[in-house]
Amino acid sequence: MNESHALLEPPALLDRPAAQQPDWPDPCALREVVDELAARPQLVSPQECDRLRARLASVAAGEAFLLQGGDCAETFAGATPGAVERKVRTLLQMAEVLAAGMDLPVVTVGRIAGQYGKPRSSAMETRDGTVLPSYRGDAVNGMDFSTEERTPDPGRLLQAYRTAADTLARVRELTGNPAPVRQEFFTSHEALLLPYEVGLSRTDPLTGRRFGMSGHMLWIGERTRQPDGAHVEFAAGICNPVGVKLGPTADPADVLALIDGLDPDRQPGRLTLITRMGAGRVRDVLPPLVERVAASAGPVTWVCDPMHGNTFSSPSGYKTRRFDDVLDEVVGFFEVHRALGTHPGGLHLELTGEAVTECVGGTPAVTLESLNQRYETACDPRLNRDQALELAAAVGELARL
Ligand code: PEP
Ligand code: MN
Repeated sequence: MNESHALLEPPALLDRPAAQQPDWPDPCALREVVDELAARPQLVSPQECDRLRARLASVAAGEAFLLQGGDCAETFAGATPGAVERKVRTLLQMAEVLAAGMDLPVVTVGRIAGQYGKPRSSAMETRDGTVLPSYRGDAVNGMDFSTEERTPDPGRLLQAYRTAADTLARVRELTGNPAPVRQEFFTSHEALLLPYEVGLSRTDPLTGRRFGMSGHMLWIGERTRQPDGAHVEFAAGICNPVGVKLGPTADPADVLALIDGLDPDRQPGRLTLITRMGAGRVRDVLPPLVERVAASAGPVTWVCDPMHGNTFSSPSGYKTRRFDDVLDEVVGFFEVHRALGTHPGGLHLELTGEAVTECVGGTPAVTLESLNQRYETACDPRLNRDQALELAAAVGELARL
C-alpha cells in the first residue's frame, strides 16, 4: 500500500485496482485534500438518500419513471446561479411533460453538483507533436492545452467540493421548502474520483450506515465497472442508491456479478442499471441481458442512456449526436422492455438549459453546418433546452402507443 492509500478509509478500498484515476503528482497533497474533505460538512443527508431509494423502488415496481440528466461534464465557470436555474427548470419541465404523457409520477435527478470528473479513452493527448495529459474534468485539471493546466492538481478536488456546495445551495433555493413551488429534486454524478468520494463518505452516527455524502445517487461508469475493481468496492460499501452504466459489450455474467456485489440483499431502489447500447444495437443486445437478469436476479431498475452509444464526429470535427438516434434508442428500449414484460424505468440524458448547438436535429433543427454556432460542452454533446423538451414530449407520447 503506498502512502496515499493509507488514508483513504476503508483502507482495503484502494487495494483493488482503480481504473481511470489521474496521475496525481503529489501523494502528500492528495492525502491532505482527502483529510480536508473528510472534515467539511457533508453535501447531502442519509435521509435524503433513503428517500431517493424509496422513489427508485417505485420505479423498479413500474409505478414511477426516472428522469436523470444534466451536463456530461459540469465546469466550475459554468456553475452560475442563472445556468443552474435554467438546467433545473428544464429538467422540472421535462418531468412535467413526461408525467402527463406517461400518467406516472416522475422522479427527477440532476447530473449536477458533482459531475466534475471524466473518464477518458486515452490518458494522453497529442497536439502538434506535444503530448500532455488528457483533460479529465475540472476536478482534476484544466482544459487549456498547456503543461500547467493539464497537470492534475488535487486542490481542484476542494474547488469541486465548493462548487458543488454552491450549486446545491442554488438547487435547494429553487426546489426546497422556501421555494415558491416545492418540487422534489435529487443530485447525482459518476463516482469516478475515489479520493473525492472517499473523503466525502460518512458513517451516519444514528444508524451506523455509511453513505457517500457527495450526492444522492452515485453511478459507476462503463469504463470503471470491473466487478473486482475499486469503484465497485467503494459503491458496495455505501448505502446510497447506485447506478451502473452498461454498454453493448456488457457480459451477462459480469452484470450478475455486479448485482451480487452491489445489491446482495436485492433491496428495491438500491441498484439502477443504465443501458447505453446505441440506436443500432439496442434491439439486439438488450433483450438477452434483460432476460438473464430477470431470470436470476429479480426486479431491478432499468434506465436508458440514449446518448453514449450514439456519438459520432461531424465532417467539421465536432463530436455530436443525432436527435433522431437518441429518440430511436429510447423507442428500442421501450420495445424491448414491453416485449419482455419489464418496466422501461427511465431516461439518463446529457442536456443543458442553454440554446447550445451540440446535437443535430430537433425543432428548430441544429444542422451539421450550424454546430459551430454555440458548441460549448467541456466533454460530450448535450441536448439543448428545446431538444430536451421535444424528447420529453416524444417519450411521453410513446407511453400512449
Ligand atoms: C458519461 O456519462 O458521461 C459517461 C462517460 O458515460 P459512460 O460511462 O456510459 O461511457
Ligand atoms: Mn458523457
